[in-house]
Amino acid sequence: MAEILELLCPVCGRKYQLQEVVYTCPVCGEVGTLEVLYDYRALKAQLDRDALRNQQQYSMWRYKPLMPIMPDAIVPPLRVGFTPLYDAPRLAQTLGVRQAWVKDDGANPTGSLKDRASALVVARALEQGTEVVSTASTGNAAAALAGVAASVGMKVIIFVPAAAPEAKIAQLLVYGATVLLIEDTYDVAFDLCTQMCLSEGWYCRNTGMNPFTAEGKKTVSFEIAEQLAWNVPDVVLVSVGDGNIIAGVYKGFYDLYQLGWIERMPRLIGVQAEGSAALYHAWKNGICAQDMQPIDANTVADSISAGLPRDRAKALRAVRQTQGAFVTVSDREIIGAIPALARLTGVFAEPASAAVFAGAQAAVQSGLIATDETVLLLGTGNGLKDVRRAQESVTGGLRVAPTLDAVRQALQL
Ligand SMILES: *Cc1c(COP(=O)(O)O)cnc(C)c1O
Ligand SMILES: [Zn+2]
Repeated sequence: MAEILELLCPVCGRKYQLQEVVYTCPVCGEVGTLEVLYDYRALKAQLDRDALRNQQQYSMWRYKPLMPIMPDAIVPPLRVGFTPLYDAPRLAQTLGVRQAWVKDDGANPTGSLKDRASALVVARALEQGTEVVSTASTGNAAAALAGVAASVGMKVIIFVPAAAPEAKIAQLLVYGATVLLIEDTYDVAFDLCTQMCLSEGWYCRNTGMNPFTAEGKKTVSFEIAEQLAWNVPDVVLVSVGDGNIIAGVYKGFYDLYQLGWIERMPRLIGVQAEGSAALYHAWKNGICAQDMQPIDANTVADSISAGLPRDRAKALRAVRQTQGAFVTVSDREIIGAIPALARLTGVFAEPASAAVFAGAQAAVQSGLIATDETVLLLGTGNGLKDVRRAQESVTGGLRVAPTLDAVRQALQL
């Protein structure tokens, strides 16, 4: 085990031993999502960032010494992480910034960044001999858990609202998960899942409950730093629903900064859909996480639809601590961003993921990003996850009779 010092509650500041709590802060309740802190002094003495050059493991597990897992722990075989980071000069030019990159986490095995969290959660379940893992989700988190668990033959129970899109339910069933179609909302499914996990001893991956999801997701920041030779971008843009990804991105850079492996933290800009912007409003109005009230969330970008973001405390802290910001984008801008990003970079993103492109444009326009700065857009999910929205974003396709004349005519040659 990496030298874990304690679990920290970002709301009340209380610290717990790893054995003391399994999920959230016992005092704060569900808003108190815990964070894993390490003995950075000890790690600094043991680890050398330049030694990573000899590391042959090209997956998130190349950073195992910085993760809450034993050095000899068995990890799931699916290759999660070490996704491509692309230098994107035409994107930089379009945005009007000095340099821009895209980190394509849609290239993960089940098509989203959620695989990083699920891989660590399943590794911990294996370590503890837990036989069943469970989560509530409508989409990518459930697919990630089902896929990673299938790679080790672990039993998975998924709670989804019965109205969840058929394609997403199909992906779960293909992986062999037991899928409970709860005849109510995601929030009700979430609570049922939580209660069943507690009473049956299943290991619960629920976002904002399990302190290790962000620890898995933080590996994306380790990769960004290593792939850029430890010179981090000025700004990293992340789309935000529950806030667990941006919390993980923050934690990754925080770990590296504590170790002295990077010289500064990038500013984090969270991108929310206008119809699901609870964190944007809290940030703008100086409201703290405990005082946030649920809103009715409504956006085409289903993966960032969250009425009361589960990881709100850590998400607000990530933005405030780095002097970052939140921005909002409309559904129309999100849909338009799908082909825009794809044509500038070759990366095909689902709506929630493409939203960072629209967010970057808004941030440059409003002066949150200066023209001489460097920016990284985090691609969180693959475009093939939501083909229907992709179809809405484009027109074209020419019907042509099967003759050369017709082809030439269609191409106006
Ligand atoms: C889950 C998800 C997000 C948002 O992550 P949160 O932790 O809910 O903020 C963004 N994009 C994609 C593709 C996702 O699956
Ligand atoms: Zn607390």
